[in-house]
Amino acid sequence: MITPVHLSSTFAQDGVGGLRGGYEYSRSANPTRTALQECLAALEGGRHGIAFGSGMGASDVLLRVLLKPGDHVVIPHDAYGGTFRLVDKVLARWGVEYTPVDLGDVGALRAALRPTTRAVWCETPTNPLLGIADIAAVADVARTARARLVVDNTFASPYLQQPLALGADVVLHSTTKYVGGHSDVVGGALVTGDDELAEELRFTQNATGSVPGPFDAWLTLRGAKTLAVRMERHSDNAERVAEMLAGHPAVARVYYPGLAQHPGHEVAAKQMRRFGGMVSFTVAGGREAALKVCAATRLFTLAESLGGVESLIEHPAAMTHASVTGSALEVPGDLVRLSVGIEDVEDLVDDLRQALAQL
Ligand SMILES: *Cc1c(COP(=O)(O)O)cnc(C)c1O
Repeated sequence: MITPVHLSSTFAQDGVGGLRGGYEYSRSANPTRTALQECLAALEGGRHGIAFGSGMGASDVLLRVLLKPGDHVVIPHDAYGGTFRLVDKVLARWGVEYTPVDLGDVGALRAALRPTTRAVWCETPTNPLLGIADIAAVADVARTARARLVVDNTFASPYLQQPLALGADVVLHSTTKYVGGHSDVVGGALVTGDDELAEELRFTQNATGSVPGPFDAWLTLRGAKTLAVRMERHSDNAERVAEMLAGHPAVARVYYPGLAQHPGHEVAAKQMRRFGGMVSFTVAGGREAALKVCAATRLFTLAESLGGVESLIEHPAAMTHASVTGSALEVPGDLVRLSVGIEDVEDLVDDLRQALAQL
């Protein structure tokens, strides 16, 4: 029933050049990793899944394959901070150019395209502002520009949204988040239906080395088994939390695509099964009040990351998004981000109410 953890760095060979079962060395391939890769490919409806040592490891390999010096990439104007840092601080040194764009606005995307644009990097919902991009519409624009469309599907998970079916070329995950689901393993993944691209990605991964160990692959596989039930519960709980916050006098604005007043609500309802477990909000009292709320919760733990079964709270401007301070991607100082877990929802709502009452 259960995939073994194949703790072997190397594999006995039948003769020189004669591989037993196709495995020789665990940077190149490992049976536990193969099982995870097949699972991830099936979840996203792609032919090829490639598991990485982290989401950033996956992003790095993907961008190295898609771009060369002089090429241009469009990134979301509120991209995940680590993705922005990789493009702005690492790839820019190698002559890669980028433009941050609000991908909720297809006209803005068209205007940002250049003859050298080789990739459009899309996140939906975005982190931390929960912006929504219409994946099918963005895919149309990317296709006419002959640029590859990457969708970072970390926030939605493959249970809630399947970008390949909507026209994306590659899906990226930080499996650290919902796919793993238990805050006990760091990992990443790429899934594609393009045979040639998959071959290039595998080659570059093997050449650069960002692979998950077998136990990490095993933990991620174990987490993936409960993805569907967890995502249903995350969505139930987040909907209730978002509604409570939207009616609370100390809260200025709630960012949750499940709310009818969210500008991306209709697109989200069209391309997502449900709206997921991430909720952000601004507080009426500004930055100081936001920091106070983050310090006052008892059930929501103050921590970075997201997507685990336990609820987390954080202040993006000072924590997860500190690396975009002073850039076009800077996030509001009065913003609080919640990763709503699967605990009893009444306990979660009570905890937020008592924290907001301290303002
Ligand atoms: C966490 C995250 C990443 C990076 O993944 P790591 O596993 O931390 O390397 C990329 N994109 C999004 C949306 C994330 O939340």
